[in-house]
Amino acid sequence: MSDEQHQNLAIIGHVDHGKSTLVGRLLYETGSVPEHVIEQHKEEAEEKGKGGFEFAYVMDNLAEERERGVTIDIAHQEFSTDAYDFTIVDCPGHRDFVKNMITGASQADNAVLVVAADDGVQPQTQEHVFLARTLGIGELIVAVNKMDLVDYSESDYKQTVEEVKDLLNQVRFDTENASFIPISAFEGDNIAEESDNTGWYDGDILLTALNNLPAPEPPTDAPLRLPIQDVYTISGIGTVPVGRVETGILNTGDNVSFQPSDVAGEVKTVEMHHEEVPKAEPGDNVGFNVRGVGKDDIRRGDVCGPAEDPPSVAETFQAQIVVMQHPSVITEGYTPVFHAHTAQVACTVESIDKKIDPSSGEVAEENPDFIQNGDAAVVTVRPQKPLSIEPSSEIPELGSFAIRDMGQTIAAGKVLSVNER
Ligand code: GDP
Repeated sequence: MSDEQHQNLAIIGHVDHGKSTLVGRLLYETGSVPEHVIEQHKEEAEEKGKGGFEFAYVMDNLAEERERGVTIDIAHQEFSTDAYDFTIVDCPGHRDFVKNMITGASQADNAVLVVAADDGVQPQTQEHVFLARTLGIGELIVAVNKMDLVDYSESDYKQTVEEVKDLLNQVRFDTENASFIPISAFEGDNIAEESDNTGWYDGDILLTALNNLPAPEPPTDAPLRLPIQDVYTISGIGTVPVGRVETGILNTGDNVSFQPSDVAGEVKTVEMHHEEVPKAEPGDNVGFNVRGVGKDDIRRGDVCGPAEDPPSVAETFQAQIVVMQHPSVITEGYTPVFHAHTAQVACTVESIDKKIDPSSGEVAEENPDFIQNGDAAVVTVRPQKPLSIEPSSEIPELGSFAIRDMGQTIAAGKVLSVNER
């Protein structure tokens, strides 16, 4: 990796439209996967009669290694262009991709939307675009993939572009902030080199477009917020909470507070990649030890912050949500599980305050009786157990959540305000 500026990139799009293949191709073209590894996968793929699937194989293999991994680092895929070091946020095709897009360890700055030219806009294309818009993705690169399957036809490309533009207009995503590229992740067209097969296209190739993405928003000057993922007991050290610094800085010697468990102490040691470090910054996965804080005092879902500016604990909070997939309707009293940072807490929708027109952002109805798929609404929520959460306008990293019920993500949202306990 170079010393270039860092960016988190989401690869979104309908299943089977080629996200994994594209990631494999990007890693390969930027030299982020050694040639011999690719060769090995190629051989394996050919043996299994799946010749040409090597990039998807690379991705499967990386995902598998990640599942086996026991380290506290989430092994994100990384590649570099001249301007940026990219980290791909989450693994495309992951079962909880949508949930992770919202509560994931890190949110994406920009995104590549993969749409297969032979299949066009599909339900997940819509869902992901809707989410990208709701969560404030900066720019969208629309990769119209599988151009080889439509014989590199300009009219098929244009038709897909029109479909995507309609979709972007529907959710009021500014098409000025979207670029469109005809590619084949499989054959490598317009990824790292201009393709001879698309003579009618004179725009940027994908790596150039990635290189030209706007720089991510500078980190906020928000106070330390470190959601706890796990708590270990390590002989010789004692209690070691682990997690990722979302905002602020964790220094040895700091007085920190864990909320909602409401315990505090002084940071004795901070460890990263098995080495002791004096401090940790946003994005760092750390284990640390706090004087006087025992294993049973804190738990996953707690947030660590400065003792003088501790994480907020909500009695209730107001949030804007978007309903994505609920089998019926949501009414007052509904109590699903909210996933926010590392916490999972049952919360009751105490009131549905306003229904919002998702395309204009204007209030469509005050105090509606119910909301359903596709609706956006402002709701008041009461956690059934203490939950640390922050207004998205103050600390965006700790201000969004996914609502899960019956094994799926049914809605996503942002916290507007917190009524503290
Ligand atoms: P994902 O579910 O979006 O991650 O899709 P995959 O990357 O797993 O791809 C789904 C299928 O489409 C696989 O069989 C890929 O080999 C194939 N595929 C992906 N990109 C292309 C492409 O550019 N051209 C062709 N012909 N097939 C592709």
